[in-house]
Amino acid sequence: MEDRFVVDTSALLSWPLTELNGAIIVQSQVKELERHSPTRAEMVEAVGVIISEPTGDSISSASVTAMETGDMGGLSITDLHLVALAYERNCVLVTDDYRMQNLSERMGVRWKSVSSDGISEFWIWKVKCVGCGREFDSPESPTNKKGLLGECMDCGSDLKLKRG
Ligand SMILES: [Zn+2]
Repeated sequence: MEDRFVVDTSALLSWPLTELNGAIIVQSQVKELERHSPTRAEMVEAVGVIISEPTGDSISSASVTAMETGDMGGLSITDLHLVALAYERNCVLVTDDYRMQNLSERMGVRWKSVSSDGISEFWIWKVKCVGCGREFDSPESPTNKKGLLGECMDCGSDLKLKRG
C-alpha cells in the first residue's frame, strides 16, 4: 500500500502541491496557513487535503511519550496532535521540527524531513534551570508559546530544555 502523509504547517507551505493531494492535516493548521498565506491556503484546499483529528486515545499515548522524552515542553498543541494522528493512522509524518521527529522515533512513527536532514539520534530532554541547575518534571500538556517553560521556583532563573 502506498504511504499516506500527515504534514506539518511548514510542509503545507513548502511542499509541492502535487505531493499534498490526499495528505492529512488537523483543523488548527487551516487557520495557521490562512494567517501565513491566504493564497496558499486556497490552493491547498483545492488540491484535496484531508482534515482530520486524532482520537483522545492517541493524544494520550503521544502525551505520555512526550513527557518521557521531555519533548512536551517544546511542542505546540498542533505538533502533538499531528504526531498522534500519524501514529493512529500509521502515516508518515512530514516535518522539519526535531522535537516532533524525536517523539515520532520513540513512538515508532515513520517521519520524513521537508528540507533539513532531520535528527540522526534519539534524545531525552530535561527541563532544567539555567541558574541553579535544578531539574523539573516535564509539563503535562503542550505549550502555547514554544520555549517558554516558566521560571525556577528556587532562584527565579529561566527554565530551558536541556539534553538529559
Ligand atoms: Zn534555579
